[in-house]
Amino acid sequence: MKVAFFDRDGTIIEDYPDEEWTGITEPVFLRSAIDTLRQVRQRGYEIIIITNQYLINEGFITWEQYKEIHAKMLNELKKQDIDILAVFYCPHGRNEGCGCCKPETGMILQALNQYPAIDLKSSFVIGDSVVDMELAGRMNIRGFGINVAIPESTPNIYQVKEVSEVLRYI
Ligand SMILES: [Mg+2]
Ligand SMILES: [Zn+2]
Repeated sequence: MKVAFFDRDGTIIEDYPDEEWTGITEPVFLRSAIDTLRQVRQRGYEIIIITNQYLINEGFITWEQYKEIHAKMLNELKKQDIDILAVFYCPHGRNEGCGCCKPETGMILQALNQYPAIDLKSSFVIGDSVVDMELAGRMNIRGFGINVAIPESTPNIYQVKEVSEVLRYI
């Protein structure tokens, strides 16, 4: 099974500075994100969302708020007929030293544990942060960084200008 590991904030929905998240209750989809997810599905990938939500334990948003935003996002995707296989999130603060906060590999390891059929060689990670690409590098998965600066000699990690550009590569 090939999987597209999608970051959430800044990749599927709008991201904000940490303090601004406190007032957010609705997900705002990024331009072309829904179309891209649909195309990725059509090309035979399962979609797993992996998202750092240190906002929760660091007190920027409440757990209920996370659940609300997330449920609204999944609802909209369902309405659009886009299946999301699973979502893994890390609620821990950045200085808690957990094993799941990207670029730590915990969320992908959890996914592998839950879905042993995942073939990392035919999978990829897409995200808008350097931590997403570090994670891809650590797991040796193809990575697509949205406006992330990629060191020139990095194999298998590519910079794209927006989420839909991944469709040129897969
Ligand atoms: Mg992001
Ligand atoms: Zn964590």
